[in-house]
Amino acid sequence: MIDNIQGLLLDLDGTLFHGGIMIPGADKLISGLRSKRIPFLFVTNNSSRTPANVAAHLSAMGIEAHEQEVCTSSLAAARYIAEESPGAAVAILGEEGLHRACEEEGLQIVTDSPQYVVQGIDRSFTYDSLTRAARWITGGAAFVLTNPDLMLPSDDGMMPGAGTLGAAIEAASGVKPVIIGKPHRHLMNYATSRLGIDPKDAIVVGDNMRTDIAAGVNAGCRTVLTLTGVTTKDNLEQYKEWTGVSPDFICNNLAELRNLLGV
Ligand SMILES: [Mg+2]
Repeated sequence: MIDNIQGLLLDLDGTLFHGGIMIPGADKLISGLRSKRIPFLFVTNNSSRTPANVAAHLSAMGIEAHEQEVCTSSLAAARYIAEESPGAAVAILGEEGLHRACEEEGLQIVTDSPQYVVQGIDRSFTYDSLTRAARWITGGAAFVLTNPDLMLPSDDGMMPGAGTLGAAIEAASGVKPVIIGKPHRHLMNYATSRLGIDPKDAIVVGDNMRTDIAAGVNAGCRTVLTLTGVTTKDNLEQYKEWTGVSPDFICNNLAELRNLLGV
């Protein structure tokens, strides 16, 4: 068992569910954490959904979840900007989750002369929005990207994520964004600050070596890899080589994870 767990940062897709289907034991894991009073947050790179949407998605699968337990890359991006420049003028290329997060952090949402361009997944992205973003950034606005995911699974195949749009803006402006989501450290450090704990006392749990485990290592947290999604026994060594990181613990399934956590 792992000692001194002050908080758990849990990945969602591939760790607790696949699309709309719960991974066996995810409901018992969450109820066990609640009954043992181990603090946790659901931590997702998804920037389009609001915390309430994410909690509703989990609850619909039978995993008890509340919106205040959800950390998204949009919340962390808005907090990052608000801490650097309270009330800053921000142009948003993104969806509801990012708009709401910026409003709630007291940022001033503008459509001209922004101090920051913050960009997430944006399924209404156009040539015109690319042009405006590139001009603002070239003109001196800071560029913040919620998450670097290039492609995402959807019901009818893979689709471009926030990172692909960010790459277009980077190419057009010549400016690299500050990246908030996994594998960068900002999202995890936002989550540990919300729990009020030191990163070294937090455990990051996820199925993806490139995003979850790398983010945990970058943020100074301990890490648990679950072989419930992207990483398998067969590709684990290859991922270790590609990423240069290793998880502190590996669980084959969520029953093993519950044993490891003692819940
Ligand atoms: Mg995952």
